[in-house]
Amino acid sequence: MIRLNEIHEKILSYNPDADLDLINKAYVFSAKVHNGQVRMSGEPYLIHPMEVAGILASLKMDVPTIAAGLLHDTVEDTWATVEEITDLFGKEVADMVEGVTKISNITFNTEVAKQAENFRKMLIAMAKDIRVIIIKLADRLNNMRTLEHMPEEKRESIAKETLDIYAPIAHRLGIYWLKSELEDLSFRFTKPEFYYRLSKLVAKSRKERERYVHEVEHILTETLAKEGLKAEVTGRPKHLYGIYQKMEKSNLDFEQVYDITAFRIIVEAVKDCYQALGIIHTTWRPVPDRFKDYIAMPKTNMYQSLHTTIIGPKGERVEIQIRTRDMHTVAEEGIAAHWKYKEGKLLETKEDITFRWIRHLIEWQQDLKDPESFMQFVKVDLFPDEVYVFTPKGDVIELPVGATPLDFAYAIHSDVGNHCASSKINGKIVPIKTQLRNGDTVEVITSPTAHPTRDWLRIVAASKTKAKIRQWLSKEEREESRKIGRELLESEFTKFNLDFSKFVNSSEIHKYLSDANLKNIDSLYSQIGYGKLSPLQTIKHLIPIDKLKEQRPQTDSTISKLFKLVARKSSTAVKIKGMDDILVRFAHCCNPIVGDSIVGFITRGRGITIHTASCPKTIELDPERKIEAEWHAASNILRPVKIMVTGMDKPGLLAGITNSISTLGVNIIRASVAPDRNQKSTLMFEIAVKDIHQLREVVNSISKIKDVTNVERILSGEAP
Ligand code: MN
Repeated sequence: MIRLNEIHEKILSYNPDADLDLINKAYVFSAKVHNGQVRMSGEPYLIHPMEVAGILASLKMDVPTIAAGLLHDTVEDTWATVEEITDLFGKEVADMVEGVTKISNITFNTEVAKQAENFRKMLIAMAKDIRVIIIKLADRLNNMRTLEHMPEEKRESIAKETLDIYAPIAHRLGIYWLKSELEDLSFRFTKPEFYYRLSKLVAKSRKERERYVHEVEHILTETLAKEGLKAEVTGRPKHLYGIYQKMEKSNLDFEQVYDITAFRIIVEAVKDCYQALGIIHTTWRPVPDRFKDYIAMPKTNMYQSLHTTIIGPKGERVEIQIRTRDMHTVAEEGIAAHWKYKEGKLLETKEDITFRWIRHLIEWQQDLKDPESFMQFVKVDLFPDEVYVFTPKGDVIELPVGATPLDFAYAIHSDVGNHCASSKINGKIVPIKTQLRNGDTVEVITSPTAHPTRDWLRIVAASKTKAKIRQWLSKEEREESRKIGRELLESEFTKFNLDFSKFVNSSEIHKYLSDANLKNIDSLYSQIGYGKLSPLQTIKHLIPIDKLKEQRPQTDSTISKLFKLVARKSSTAVKIKGMDDILVRFAHCCNPIVGDSIVGFITRGRGITIHTASCPKTIELDPERKIEAEWHAASNILRPVKIMVTGMDKPGLLAGITNSISTLGVNIIRASVAPDRNQKSTLMFEIAVKDIHQLREVVNSISKIKDVTNVERILSGEAP
């Protein structure tokens, strides 16, 4: 067990002015609250935070991090609270302890390999402070070192989690020894047969192998220097898991792999690479077929190096990579597939940049005279653009920041999104526009009747989601256009007193469809609905024009029935001063609707005609016949009103407008479309409205439609 003064010594070795009081205080507190607790091994619990602090000191971490390491399990496992830790040790330490506690409470389900990357990112995003991750890694390392004390059934899953989540994080942070040790420890519990076979075969201890590596490093450097070549030589003994991976990946026998030690030679220029290779090949015997020139023939991921294997200075196989400093940067920092080559520059993903930055930070922190200044850089949002949330099953979903449960629903499946009715975050029902936070568990409640609306586009953050919603809406619009087209055509038939149903299956229609290059009758409806074809044109194609003229348009269509209904009710809608139940009619010139200021004019034999107060006609009329009029307060008649919409001639415009009118519960009596020059079109609608407020609603909602440039009420009875 590591002792407190050993931790002190470690810290003082790289930070002579360290505030050891904080360490001592954290030690005393941790000892107090963990008192009486024992680990699985039967040892006092305190050993664990002490070992974690020791590992953090080996990583040359700052004093607050080591103090947080001593305290990392106090909130989770004892009566201590975050408030108490804040009071005693300050916010900086308390935040780290809280961060570690939060991460420890997440359970990762790594059954699906592709989830692992998301788990790692979520963990880092939740930590909010790189030091929290480093404490967590130290915690995991100590737990792995003592894994044999855990119940057998738990070992494998912990080891697997370490392999999937924590070792890759250590790797990306550039802490290679920590990564190797985590992997070897995990290897021992996930693949015990291989582990023990390999460790028996790699007879030399790790220490021996390290000594061997140093010796060979020295020999290689000297040999190159003798020929006047300045080179940086580094070697690393392969760890057991690395050997195992290599065997698996290259399908090699143990004998072909186990004694291979890899060395890297970094030189100034490309020509030096070949010179170094020449020197090495003349000094030691190369293994046949092992030389590869990735400088002349770079790998697709831009990787460049010379590879060779020699029978080395000690008679063992030695793998050597020779490269320049630039090639080295590409090899180390470019995670293969993420490198792209554009405009002569290497592009890396934001994630690569983030991790490279952390790696440099950690490297740099090792050499800092004042490790405290490390501080100002560690508290940054590492993935500011993403948010990671859980499905109820424990899978992690990555979404852009600002994402809502609706984005989540679409990320699960388009069908889930298209029927999203409501959502729960962490078990509570929330509006579907609620912004998600890292670590939320999100659940979507679907309903067969729920469907996307244009508003949804405003409450989602992912462009993928928007595309899916738009896709649904435009499909709906097509369907709507088809319906409208059919209605328009049918009412045009009715207008000419023709039987629509007879024509639907007539040979004329089929001929017309093939002439017009239309697939079927539905495409005809759609074309009419989109305003590409007019119903009148269609009829003229189907019926000889002279025959058409013979038919007198009649007015008893469904629509005119509605119109009549509208008109019939109108007599009781208006109050005329001093008169009861007088017959009124509404002037066609201005078409008053409920809410307009109105005046009446007495007409001989036809009762009273109601005009709007602003109607130009009223000036021409005899002022002596003028009579005051107003709407009944409770008048609930529908009045027809004409509106003219101008907009860009785009498919779906008519459908969009019709849709927005019907959404408001307003009936359309008549609609016509006239595309004109300049890609513009003019659409006329006659609609039945309750009053002026409803008309305003309609106008507002139409003017919000994309591609609509103007909406106005037409007062004149004649359409322009
Ligand atoms: Mn712990």
